[in-house]
Amino acid sequence: MFSYLHRYVIFPAVFLAKGIRYKEVAALLKVQEQDGYRNVGEIQKAKLASIISAANRNPFYIGRLTDGGDAQKTGTDFLASLPVLEKQELDQLYRCSAGDRTLAVRDTAGTTGHPVKVRVDVDALSWQVATRYHLYGWHGIDLGDKEARFWGRPVTSSSYMLKDFLLNRKRFCFHHKDRQQNMSEYEALLKYQPSYFYGYSSLILQAAIFFDQEKLPKLPLKAVICTAETIHTFQTEFIERVFGCPVVVEYGCSESDILAFQCEQGSLHLVSVNSVVRQDVGPGHEGEVIYTDLNNRVMPLINYRLGDVATIEASLCQCGRALPVIRSLQGRSINQLIPTTGGGLHAVYVAYAIEEVCQRGFDVRRFKIYYSKGRLEIKVDLVGDEAKFVAAIRPPLDKILNGEIGYDLVFGSIPLDEGRKFSYFEMID
Ligand SMILES: [Zn+2]
Repeated sequence: MFSYLHRYVIFPAVFLAKGIRYKEVAALLKVQEQDGYRNVGEIQKAKLASIISAANRNPFYIGRLTDGGDAQKTGTDFLASLPVLEKQELDQLYRCSAGDRTLAVRDTAGTTGHPVKVRVDVDALSWQVATRYHLYGWHGIDLGDKEARFWGRPVTSSSYMLKDFLLNRKRFCFHHKDRQQNMSEYEALLKYQPSYFYGYSSLILQAAIFFDQEKLPKLPLKAVICTAETIHTFQTEFIERVFGCPVVVEYGCSESDILAFQCEQGSLHLVSVNSVVRQDVGPGHEGEVIYTDLNNRVMPLINYRLGDVATIEASLCQCGRALPVIRSLQGRSINQLIPTTGGGLHAVYVAYAIEEVCQRGFDVRRFKIYYSKGRLEIKVDLVGDEAKFVAAIRPPLDKILNGEIGYDLVFGSIPLDEGRKFSYFEMID
């Protein structure tokens, strides 16, 4: 009953009040879906032409788009010849972007050490919102379904609480030190009866660990959606096992919302109707994600470097959607490099080694790699025999680190920092 009220009354009222053209965009997305996104190239071309012409009216882009050409004719390939928009330039772009068509301003979290603001117009917001619920639909989640949210920011202001009420969601958190507090959280969750979970991967993982420890019964969930932080396969498998429903990975950013979403078959598809994602091939940046937002004309993001390292392939997915697939995602490379004599080693390789060992039956809940003064401390939250784990992990680790950097293996639980994204790698000065 409560979901119906939200689906048919409250959500439409919120969209109307905000000027979001939900119905119109949702209908377009439905047509594209039925077509298996076969026309995605044409859609990108048309949308990109409109973005380029908006950018040509923005003082920031004067002199930057000389090779812009006519996107209607040339497709999207010319983007590779345009300059890359770096995060540090967003302040200037923000100031150059006329405010009269701004519908919302997004503050990015600044986890890369560089918080920025992005203006969003009505088109962009309509596409972002409609796309979100369209993608949820892949997993049977309907507009207005009850969401249990696992989020970094604690709710303090009444405006947040109002927003949560209107959007039919409630926040939960299982990283209290006190067992009784976590148990009260569970009771509240049970009473709330959400349709799905949404939130930071690390916080959802924390909830799964608590459910597992306490042997709590499963809730009837449609899906668990993990976002914002890199999550490893063994962790999604663990969450799936504990909650007994599919775990779906969402990949996006505050600047443009969802860029890729996992389908029913487990492929992480780029949502190419909203952005053109390509990879940098330049030295030092090879494989980094660069994207162009195809909806936001008030502050056009053209060739914007997000900094994640990813492998993108054409889709051969069983689901039949002609949307490219992200095969591997290594997180923000800038924050994940272990300094070595050989110029730096991506921390993901250490993560891969742990993942590989987990596939042999070791039960790792979480791990964290700390770097300090030329040495690594690899902390593992392990259920089971520590000595056996050490024997299994040493050979692959020694191979990867190649004697270039020393390391210690430590066991114990790993704390989360309130209000911050969990990163499996941290540099300590
Ligand atoms: Zn698929």
